[in-house]
This record gives sequence, C-alpha cells and structure tokens, in this order.
Amino acid sequence: MYQTKAYAVASKTAALARTAIPRRDATDRDVQIEILYCGICHSDLHYARDDWHDVLPAVYPVVPGHEIVGRVTKVGSGVTQYKVGDLAAVGCLVDADHTCPNCQQGLQNFCPNQTLTFGSKDRHGTAPVTFGGYSDSIVVDERMVLRVPTNLNLAGVAPLLCAGITTYSPLRRFGVTKGIKVGIVGLGGLGHMGVKFARAFGAHVVVFTTSPGKTEDALRLGAHEVVVSKNPDEMKKHVASFNFILDTVSAEHDINPFIHLLALNGNLTLVGAPAKPLALSSFALIFGNRSVSGSNIGGIPQTQEMLDFCGQHNITADVEVIPIQKVNEAWDRLVRSDVKYRFCIDMASLKGE
Ligand code: NAP
Ligand code: ZN
Repeated sequence: MYQTKAYAVASKTAALARTAIPRRDATDRDVQIEILYCGICHSDLHYARDDWHDVLPAVYPVVPGHEIVGRVTKVGSGVTQYKVGDLAAVGCLVDADHTCPNCQQGLQNFCPNQTLTFGSKDRHGTAPVTFGGYSDSIVVDERMVLRVPTNLNLAGVAPLLCAGITTYSPLRRFGVTKGIKVGIVGLGGLGHMGVKFARAFGAHVVVFTTSPGKTEDALRLGAHEVVVSKNPDEMKKHVASFNFILDTVSAEHDINPFIHLLALNGNLTLVGAPAKPLALSSFALIFGNRSVSGSNIGGIPQTQEMLDFCGQHNITADVEVIPIQKVNEAWDRLVRSDVKYRFCIDMASLKGE
C-alpha cells in the first residue's frame, strides 16, 4: 500500500479539502496511473451531497472523480495492454466480475458485481470504499483501463470518460444518424457532448436550454436550432417532430412538454439523474406510441469505441481547466449551471500541496 494526495468531503455539508488516501500496490493485473486531469461531473456533487440517499447512499469520506486521464507509472507482471509511459484513462467503473452475462456482452456498466470508481465497496480491502480521481494517482485492473487517442488535448479528453460515453451510448442505441431529428435537453457537461456526437452522426440537432445566454455557444457546438424551453411559443413550433430526445438535466423539471415534442414512436431517454421521481403523463405517451427510457454510462468496449471515434473526428469536451484549489468554487458554479461546458482539474496543482 502507498499513500497519495487527494481532495475529499468528510460529510454531506463539508467543503472539499486536502487529505491523504491509501492506494494498493499494483498486483499482476493492475495498472498504476499518475492522474494528469480529472473532469468534474454533476454526479460527483450529487453523490457527495447525498442527493441520491435513497438509491446510492454516500459513504464518507468521499473522494469524487470518474473522468480520469493520466500516464502509466507502473504495470503488474501480467499486464499486456499497457506499458510505463503510455497514456491511459479510467471512467466510472474500476471493476466487474467479468463472468456474468452482461460482462460477457461487454456491458460491465450493468454487472451486478461492479465496482464504481468512488463510493463502492473496495474489493481489495485497501479502504472501506473506493476513492476517485480527485487525487494524484490510481491503481486499476487493466481490463477496466481505456486507451487514449494521442492526437487530442488531454484536458478535453478527461470528460469523455463519463459525459462522453453517457451521451454517445444512447445516441448509438437509438440509431441517431442523418435524417433523424434529435433534441438535447440541458447544455451542461453531458448536454454539450450530446450535441457534438449527434452532429457528428449527421442528425438535425436542436438544443433545449433554460439559459438564453447559451444560444450562441449551442450553435457553435453544433446545434442547428436552439429553443429556450421556458418559452411555450418556441416549444410549440416543434410539436410531434422529434425522433429522439436526450434529457441531461440534473435538477427536478417537467419532462411532459418534451414528450409532446416526440413524433410517432419517438423516444425520450433520461440520462440526467435528479434525486426525486419525475411525473409522467400517460396520455402524452399513449397519443403517439411514444416511449421514455433510461441509459447508464456505457460498457468498456463501447467506451473505447467512443474514444477512438473522438480521435478520428477530433472531438473533445470544451473545458474550463482549474487548479484543484478552485474545486469548491467550481462545484458552486455547477449548481448554478454556470459551466462552459465542463470543469477539468489540472492535477499538477495538487503536487505542490
Ligand atoms: P451539468 O453540467 O450541471 O448540466 C446540467 C444542465 O441541466 C445545466 O447546465 C442546465 O442546462 C440544465 N439544468 C440545470 N438545472 C435545471 C433546472 N432546474 N431545470 C431545467 N434545466 C436545468 O451536469 P452534468 O454533469 O452534465 O450531469 C447531468 C446529469 O446527468 C446529472 O444529474 C448527473 O448526475 C447525470 N449523469 C448521469 C449519468 C448516467 O449514466 N445516466 C452519467 C453522468 C451523469 P441549461 O442551462 O442549458 O438549461
Ligand atoms: Zn459522471
């Protein structure tokens, strides 16, 4: 075991503060990674503030972070895919049983014995729970490590590991391509990646935002049209016209106005995870054979496919890079939807502490 620097919250109301955490020594299968950048996902904040208490109660201290990019500093004797000096990435998952039917299909995101990057029981017993990427280094089974395209800006790559795959996966599942009209609800970390992917897949892309000030950015990011969702007249123009809508909103909101915008057999997929259940009008669904679905990150093979796609198409997140000393301020701004469009921590800032 060795100690590494990290930022943690000690309770539901505490600020993030400097601490030291244990990491296991790399076993035969493990890759030890020096973390260079870690994105800030709204899930970090939901979990640390115990918003999801009824579903996923927080265990403190919480070291958040599951959008990790770094450089390999050590590999176990059985590791075949990585060597010291390689770039490597880690997303929301650090372990799975690799034997269940879901794992066998590459769907480690639905493995009943999965280990999340932070807050899951640590199956190696290094600490009671796993600790995430707001830290100096991490040790991960090579089967859960991703290869990073070498042509991309690394700070912009980090958010692909959650915001990227979480939007890429449902857009692929619902066959988003040329000729499809897609809505992206909420222009934050996930939303802006959804816009980039939907555009890259050739769809007609419409952004729904509650922030009129984001209109120009939405168009620059790839949207063909922008609708301020609080404006009923703007909403009306799109009634019954969408094949697919991806809802990335992090807070309680009414999804029924968006269901009315779906065409026959259209689907609205929720990836945003507000704490409270949403109300759903059966009539909005019945009149049009419409459906509502959920989607959970993505499996390891699809995450690699997404990273390779980003390498080929030069896609990265738009990041505001911050030193870790500004992480509390960044969380405050995230709550106010004041992010353009993902905060990313430059982990070099932790070294001097
Ligand atoms: P984010 O950067 O904070 O973006 C959320 C966006 O939602 C905001 O920028 C804002 O966009 C909109 N919004 C916020 N409050 C709203 C309200 N009261 N009413 C309507 N719109 C509102 O968050 P994120 O990191 O993208 O995460 C989004 C959600 O996805 C979170 O709940 C997160 O936990 C969840 N998530 C799920 C998965 C999964 O696997 N399903 C994975 C990662 C994250 P506008 O300003 O444009 O309105
Ligand atoms: Zn996330």
